[in-house]
Amino acid sequence: MSTIETSNLTKRFDDLTAVDGVDLDVAAGEVLCLLGPSGCGKTTTLRMIAGLEAVSEGEVRIAGVRVNEVSPADRNIAMVFQFYALYPSLTVAENLAFPLHAEKMAKAEIDARVGEVAGKLALGEVLHRLPNHLAEGEKQRVAVARAIVRDPNCFLFDEPLSRLDVELRMAMRGQIKEILTGLSKATVIVTHDQLEALTMADRIAVMRDGRIEQIATPHDIFAHPKNVFVAGFIGTPQMNLMQGQLLRQNGRASFAFAGQEVSLELGDTSPELSQGETYTVGIRPRGLAPLSEATPGSLAATVDLVEPMGAETLLHLRAEDQDIRVVLDRRHVVREGENLHLGLLPDKLHLFGQDGGRIEL
Ligand code: ATP
Repeated sequence: MSTIETSNLTKRFDDLTAVDGVDLDVAAGEVLCLLGPSGCGKTTTLRMIAGLEAVSEGEVRIAGVRVNEVSPADRNIAMVFQFYALYPSLTVAENLAFPLHAEKMAKAEIDARVGEVAGKLALGEVLHRLPNHLAEGEKQRVAVARAIVRDPNCFLFDEPLSRLDVELRMAMRGQIKEILTGLSKATVIVTHDQLEALTMADRIAVMRDGRIEQIATPHDIFAHPKNVFVAGFIGTPQMNLMQGQLLRQNGRASFAFAGQEVSLELGDTSPELSQGETYTVGIRPRGLAPLSEATPGSLAATVDLVEPMGAETLLHLRAEDQDIRVVLDRRHVVREGENLHLGLLPDKLHLFGQDGGRIEL
C-alpha cells in the first residue's frame, strides 16, 4: 500500500527545532495538506519525508517500511516543486520520457506510459513542443505529468501552484485534485495558501512553530477549530476573537467586552464555564448580524471602513479599541461613521478557554 507515516518526526538546526515531534498518517489515495505560516516547518517536514533532509529524531515510513536510512532516489517518491525545472532543450514528450529512460524501461512501454499520462493531463496536443513554447499552466501540468509517469509510491508537492496567476491556480487546484483522486497514492502538499488547502486536501494539518496544531478534514478545521490559533488562521476574512469576562445573571450568560455587556446564547452551558473568568469568544464575520435598534446585550460598534467585495461587503468596525469584522450582503447599505448594533448568531459561536483551547458548546 502507498502510505506515508511519520512518528515523532523532529528536525534540529543547531539551537532551532524546526520540526518538533510531528506524527502524520497519510492513507493511500489521501491528500494531506501541510498548512501554516512562513517558517513553521512545512517544507522541512516534506524534505525529511523525501529524504532530502536528515531526520534528527523520529521515523519516516513509506508503504509501511522505515526509510530513515534510505536515499531519496530509492524511496520511490515523486516530488513537484514550486520551481518546476523542465529540460529546456527536450520536448514535452522527451521531458516525460526522461525519468523512464533513467529506469531503463523498454521504448514501447515508455511511449505507452507517456501517451497515457499526457492524456490524463490534456497534454496530447503539446507533446512535440519545447517548454519555452508552453503557457505557464501547461508547464505546470508537464511537471505534474513527469511526477506521475514513473508510478511512484507517493507524491510530495511543495507550493506547487504559487507561481501561477490567480485564475490558473483556481483551475489547476481542481485539476490536480482530480488527477490525484484517481491514483490511490498518498500525497502530501505543502502550502501557505488556505484556499489551496481547503479545496485540495482530504485532511489539513495546521502547523505552528514546528508542531501540528490540528489535523482534520477541511470542514472540521473550519467548523471546529481546536484552538485560537487555528481559528484565527483559517477563514477569510479572519474570525473575530473577542476576549472578555463571563458574566451570568438569572440564568443568562453575557460577556464583558469593549466596555459593554454582550449577550451570549450558549444553550446547554458546559459545566467548566465559570463566572468572572476570561474567555475568548470567536465569531466569524458572517456570524454577526446588524439589528434595527439597540437591544439589551447587543454589541454597539462604529463603522470605520466599508470594503466592497462584490456580492458582499466587508465592514471594519470599532468598539473602544477593539476591531470587529462583519460581512454583509451588498444590498445592506452601510456608511462609514455609522453606529451599528450587532447580535451574535448563537449557532455561529466558538468559545476558547484561557489556554486557547476550544470549549465545545
Ligand atoms: P516557508 O513557507 O516560508 O517556506 P516553512 O513552513 O516551509 O516556511 P521551513 O522552510 O521548513 O518552514 O523552515 C522552518 C524553520 O527552519 C525556519 O525557521 C527556517 O529558517 C529554518 N530552516 C530551514 N532550513 C534550514 C537550514 N538548512 N538551516 C537552518 N535553518 C533552517
